[in-house]
Amino acid sequence: MDGTTLEAIRTALRGPVIAPQDPEYAEARKVYNAMIDRRPAAVVPCRDAADVMAAVNFLRDNGLDVAVRGGGHSGPGLAVIDDAVTIDLSPMSGVRVDPAARTAQVAGGSLLGDLDHAAHAFGLGVPAGIVSTTGVGGLTLGGGHGHLTRKYGLTVDSLTSADVVLADGSFVTASEEQHPDLFWALRGGGGNFGVVTSFTFRLHPVDTVGLGITLYPLDKIGEVLRWYRDFLPQAPDDLNGFFAELVVPPAPPFPEEIHGQRMCGVVWCWTGDLARTEEALAPDSRPAAPAFHFTAPMPYPMVQSMFDGLMPTGLQWYWRGDFFDRITDEAIEVHAKYANLIPTGLSTMHLYPIDGAAHRVDPGATAWGYRDAVWSGIVGGIDPDPENAGAIKEWCVDYWSELHPQSMGGGYVNFMGADESQDRVRATYRDQYERLTAVKKTYDPDNLFRANQNITPAA
Ligand code: FAD
Repeated sequence: MDGTTLEAIRTALRGPVIAPQDPEYAEARKVYNAMIDRRPAAVVPCRDAADVMAAVNFLRDNGLDVAVRGGGHSGPGLAVIDDAVTIDLSPMSGVRVDPAARTAQVAGGSLLGDLDHAAHAFGLGVPAGIVSTTGVGGLTLGGGHGHLTRKYGLTVDSLTSADVVLADGSFVTASEEQHPDLFWALRGGGGNFGVVTSFTFRLHPVDTVGLGITLYPLDKIGEVLRWYRDFLPQAPDDLNGFFAELVVPPAPPFPEEIHGQRMCGVVWCWTGDLARTEEALAPDSRPAAPAFHFTAPMPYPMVQSMFDGLMPTGLQWYWRGDFFDRITDEAIEVHAKYANLIPTGLSTMHLYPIDGAAHRVDPGATAWGYRDAVWSGIVGGIDPDPENAGAIKEWCVDYWSELHPQSMGGGYVNFMGADESQDRVRATYRDQYERLTAVKKTYDPDNLFRANQNITPAA
């Protein structure tokens, strides 16, 4: 950005403008994934909708590229783009719970931990992701799934309205009654339609839940996956269990003798009667003797943050995902092959259940394109050492490529990698894509908001 434009933006905006020559710049351009090393033209922290409107107006009128930062957790690092200006929502963090109405108003830059903490005081919560440092913004706009999905649906299924700053700088509230087409598109269509300054969610009863982890040696992966694919879909909605391949971390609750071993298993969350946790998580039908089985009653926010310590900011990440309506025998062979090749201690593969309550929503009601999918899968190559960036990416891409023919063809938009094609965006939205391009044309005809998995405006 030249000096004149920088001077003009500093004059136009109330808050700070962090430019490359400023000492705060190094920190401001960092995102969660350390594989992303981009140099934005500037970062503009915003405190309220007025700041966002001023920023959008200035950037659009001056022909500057725009990126938007919620929690900064996207795998492809979409919150910072070379030479673009980042509208940074991180100062806009805050949650107001209305316990009588059972709603929460959540500022656009809040993190999941903010929401879980605020709602838990009232024995309430929203179904969302499993790491508390993830942004409410990006997660919700992509759909959002986690430990409560089978019980209460996707995160977007609890969204009742959103305040949005549009590309023309105007401010609207989108809901079933107001701008219903925009509200439809926001529920899965990502950050394509504007900057959401506030989300309002319907809250659900959730307090202490039954947490469980059951691990098996990798030579049992075939038996475990065959059992899991039959067991989970017929289990009550109160039982959520995501399948995982992992290297057992050297930390509690895992006993030392299994530290560092490649294993597979299920991470459970039980929202039913706590006295029946063990019965629900360790059914007689289970496929083999586990190498490790742990259950404990836990406050919901503790479950939501239990992986935070393993996954601090600053690791190298490369991921790809796909949706699955079944786990075929062919897929199980691919899982067995690549689980044995997990390249680093944190790399993993998860299958998150997205059936139960998420299946009971009309497929056309939101922009989420796969109400018939039973699992949202992700292969994640993760490691602290930049030297291993090539190895984790190669494992991820090879694994994903061999598994992809067993998928439904598209994957969760929030699990798309840094270098996936426009065809993959179409595959994510499937038959919702054309409608999304029409809504995009109405609300962002010049594609100002394109630092995302981009939906291009209809011709
Ligand atoms: P950002 O990088 O800030 O934003 C991502 C995209 O959303 C960008 O295009 C950005 O412009 C846009 N955006 C963000 N906020 C706004 C806003 N307020 N208005 C308009 N646009 C906005 N997903 C799940 O569903 N379930 C999980 O359990 C889960 N676990 C995860 C765990 C980890 C450790 C990580 C890194 C990710 C996980 N995810 C999960 C994926 C997560 O949903 C995406 O990475 C999501 O994009 C993160 O949102 P963010 O706001 O933190 O990211």
